[in-house]
Amino acid sequence: MRKIALVTGGAGFIGSHLCERLLNEGKYVICVDNLFSGRKENIQHLFRYPNFDFILHDVINPISLKVDEIYHFACPASPPHYQYDPIFTMKTSVIGSLNVLELARFNNAKIMLASTSEVYGDPLEHPQKETYRGNVNPIGPRACYDEGKRAAETLFFDYYRKYKLRIKVIRIFNTYGPRMRHDDGRVVSNFIVQALNNEDITVYGDGTQTRSFCYIDDLIEGIIKMMNSDDSFLGPVNLGNPDEFRVIDLANKIIKMTNSKSKIVFKDLPEDDPKKRRPDITLAKEKLNWEPKTTLDVGLKETIKYFREFLGNYKKLGFL
Ligand code: NAD
Ligand code: UDP
Repeated sequence: MRKIALVTGGAGFIGSHLCERLLNEGKYVICVDNLFSGRKENIQHLFRYPNFDFILHDVINPISLKVDEIYHFACPASPPHYQYDPIFTMKTSVIGSLNVLELARFNNAKIMLASTSEVYGDPLEHPQKETYRGNVNPIGPRACYDEGKRAAETLFFDYYRKYKLRIKVIRIFNTYGPRMRHDDGRVVSNFIVQALNNEDITVYGDGTQTRSFCYIDDLIEGIIKMMNSDDSFLGPVNLGNPDEFRVIDLANKIIKMTNSKSKIVFKDLPEDDPKKRRPDITLAKEKLNWEPKTTLDVGLKETIKYFREFLGNYKKLGFL
């Protein structure tokens, strides 16, 4: 019997890569998504697999399915998307997590939460270890996402303590790659799209804030290793690339790699924008024997190739 894997948020950037990987491992994959920030194009190529299903559904509402394992990725992830309707974001994190936890309990299924480095907020400890409890503003514009994910982590651990549910919690750091939305608002997609269109590159603040960028293939490998790890390892575990870059340096790198005529312009730094972020991945190395292998140069090359093709097609179809 094939194992049935449910991927919530499966039509999104990370979710679509995850569905593909699980299908290639021979699982029956059910993708549940409300298409808030995901796209049918991300999963179109998966319909050729007889063991793939898509259900248009909002996880804020309960769902009844037969499943063996659940990857709970449904949630808007880019700041413009999660701040567009903050109450919906909070509901997705909290009520959505409750619904999938109940589904896992009903099926006695293993369940993973896609949490985030945002649980560390604007961190006072650097790099961030899983033991760091964070510096989050509970009433700021990022709180719907940060506090929502923190509450989701709480729910996962309470279901473990109360019902012995098999849980896995990963904290994902900035991840990029093909199938990010061109209008998603995150730094890598914004800069590449602006550079390819020879438009101004919008650096927020003075660009000295740092992030660590993980290529999608590396993240997917970490997700799979975590799900297959011993039931006694619950996490939370950081999954991200520890190489740290200043945003301004990323902008210059992308201009160079695309041979762009774009100029850098400086815009206001968004409220509560973390000044630095870098994962300590010691735990992932020890417990999962995982570390990223893709350098930023290699990952950006693939992502630029994807966006060049995507923008070309969109322009031909008259969407841009
Ligand atoms: P994404 O926006 O591309 O994917 C999220 C998917 O969830 C979309 O397809 C969206 O339509 C769907 N969704 C949102 N709310 C939903 C709801 N209420 N019901 C059903 N579907 C819903 O973003 P992503 O980058 O692929 O992120 C996937 C997950 O990984 C998110 O949970 C996010 O918090 C987490 N994460 C991502 C990153 C990153 O750098 N990409 C970093 C940390 C955490
Ligand atoms: N950023 C930027 N220009 C953009 C988009 C983002 O300078 O067009 C900055 C943003 O202020 C932040 C960093 O890049 O400091 C990463 O932003 P992103 O939205 O990708 O992720 P997050 O802030 O959630 O890490």
